[in-house]
Amino acid sequence: MKKVYLTVSLMAAAVAVVTVGCKCEKVCGDACETTCAKACAAKCAPVAKHVVLVGVDGCGARYIPWDVMPNLKALRDEGVYTVGRCHRPTASAINWKSVFSGVSPEIHGFTKWNSSSPSIEPPASAFDAEGRIPCIFSEIRRQTPGAYTVSLFAWDGIGNCHNTNTVSFTRWYAGKGDEYPVRDASVFEEGARQLANEPTLMLLYQGGVDNTGHKYSWGSPEYTNALVQVDANLGKFMTALKGTDMWKDTAVMFVADHGGLGTHHGGVEDIRVLEIPFIVSGPAAKGLRLREPMMLEDVSPTIAALLGYTIPESWRGRAAAVAR
Ligand SMILES: [Zn+2]
Repeated sequence: MKKVYLTVSLMAAAVAVVTVGCKCEKVCGDACETTCAKACAAKCAPVAKHVVLVGVDGCGARYIPWDVMPNLKALRDEGVYTVGRCHRPTASAINWKSVFSGVSPEIHGFTKWNSSSPSIEPPASAFDAEGRIPCIFSEIRRQTPGAYTVSLFAWDGIGNCHNTNTVSFTRWYAGKGDEYPVRDASVFEEGARQLANEPTLMLLYQGGVDNTGHKYSWGSPEYTNALVQVDANLGKFMTALKGTDMWKDTAVMFVADHGGLGTHHGGVEDIRVLEIPFIVSGPAAKGLRLREPMMLEDVSPTIAALLGYTIPESWRGRAAAVAR
């Protein structure tokens, strides 16, 4: 009889261990496989107070000239890096909408390079209580109304891909295609000024690389030079960022929406168009690893998890950066 009791009590103990509540489910979605609440809390505690998201339109992972992009290379080497994939059709609004809204095009309904509203009606379950497809900015506003956020972009189409009315400071740098170098530099310059406000999330979007790809072709010397210019702007911004008090609590992300082939993307079925870079770096990204394969709807859940925000149930992406 004694033996039987021992077996039963061991079984009861085993059940008790595996049913300990997993608090971090809110933060990292299905990332938590631990059965220990303590380990769970340590694993999923917010690690960043600030996230800077650098988005470079048309930056195909296979075309990045790392040797002449020392600032981007430093972010890569000091953080975690993977080659992710974008959605088809491999065009801008389709994929930037996924970046900000945590869902694929089949859910958010953007199907054109310059979509400003869904071409396909999203399922009712994809909307939040305010009737919008939640994006990382609207979630930050909803969960901490006082948080300061910034969105700076050189292509107006980006404004349709996130809920700009939930961003504290938004600016679109208008101009002609050949003015992208100036417009893109302005994004980083304003971004450096905005550091004084210690934004919870700041988007810095660059449009010139894609524009140059369309004009001269992906991988051309001109395209490479456009990336070198982005790197120079990034370097100045990083110097400013590293001089702030917020730097020690900051994660810097780098992502793109698609690559290209020849002077095209969108309808082109080729790995050089599909592959995009994804970097998570900075002091607040120490000790992280990336869950792969990564797709663009993972970007916003990753930001939410790093900042300790609850990931909306409607999001299909997952936190890509988790503790090692
Ligand atoms: Zn393009």
